[in-house]
Amino acid sequence: MKITAITPFILHVPVTGSMIQDSTHTISHWGVVGAQIDTDTGLSGFGFTGTHAHLASDQLITRCIESCHAPLLIGEDARDIRRLWHKLARNPALQWVGRAGITTLAHAAIDIALWDLKGKAAQLPLWKLLGGQVRDKVRAYNTDIGWLSIPDEQLVAGAARAVEDGFTGIKIKVGSSVERDARRLAMVRDAIGPDVTLAIDGNGKWDLPTCLRFCRLAEASNVYWFEEPLWYDDVKGHAQLARQSNIPVALGEQLYTPDAFAEFFAQQAIHWAQPDVTRMAGLTDVLQVCDTAHSFRVPVAPHAGDMSQMHVHLAYAHPAVAVLEYIPWIKDCFTEPSEVVAGHFRLPQEPGAGTTPTAAAWARFRQPAH
Ligand code: MG
Repeated sequence: MKITAITPFILHVPVTGSMIQDSTHTISHWGVVGAQIDTDTGLSGFGFTGTHAHLASDQLITRCIESCHAPLLIGEDARDIRRLWHKLARNPALQWVGRAGITTLAHAAIDIALWDLKGKAAQLPLWKLLGGQVRDKVRAYNTDIGWLSIPDEQLVAGAARAVEDGFTGIKIKVGSSVERDARRLAMVRDAIGPDVTLAIDGNGKWDLPTCLRFCRLAEASNVYWFEEPLWYDDVKGHAQLARQSNIPVALGEQLYTPDAFAEFFAQQAIHWAQPDVTRMAGLTDVLQVCDTAHSFRVPVAPHAGDMSQMHVHLAYAHPAVAVLEYIPWIKDCFTEPSEVVAGHFRLPQEPGAGTTPTAAAWARFRQPAH
């Protein structure tokens, strides 16, 4: 299965409402920035990373795919995923100048496209290719009801509605002020009752004293995890927080390498690992993190930069994955949307990784790749 062409693409898809906010970001669109890989079999694979839809930086990713990664792949056998992963990780054009960041996001898109191709060639959904179902159901938790930009009343109503719709887990954003966020958390807990898991996400905004102050107020609300409480790379701070609070600590959506995760595991700094196939260098890298997490008995809750189009396959196939994030912004852009029914993700059926865009999405959301 020889690679004959690699074509980058950019889609900008609107979020729910016109805008959402967390403690550090304000966005109106989700960027689906990736690559189509064509082969001499006639099969094409699609892979993408997830961005905040800034065209200027999205075009740096597509440029990296086209100018730096693609020349190393044309003519190669698309089935050699691990060998090609290492070839790109040692790309002479990039290793000195870009060991993480845009280069990794570009690498992610290609690795995912290769997995998609492998599934299509085998005529199997990716979860089957990864070894089959290790669980009957994948529980979904809803993030889209909990943005910081949602006013209190609407937040409470949205959380209650999600539970009525069948969700047994939700997540709300924190990181504005300790008092406001603690008040909103308690209101949501009251509205959803004691049986629904309720996680919070600080997006790396606060320092350790602020987190400790917040945790003391939040403990009464039975928090499932506190995600990115501190700056993303601060192993020591997360280890301290994990020791000093009763609330489990979660992290990983901004970590680029298995080495970064290894340090958090070794220092017992996190209770939940949240790798993302679109942030790390694709599924190949995330599988390694999931295996390591499992060996430490740390559960994995992948961050959904792919809006779970691909993570749903991982979640059905890997024993470390305990629960999966649901954000519905881009699902209808794909031939097999990642759907939640009665609080659980539907098991994908189509061959591949769930990353094939529809013609309608292509026509409606496509941006210039250059
Ligand atoms: Mg997060």
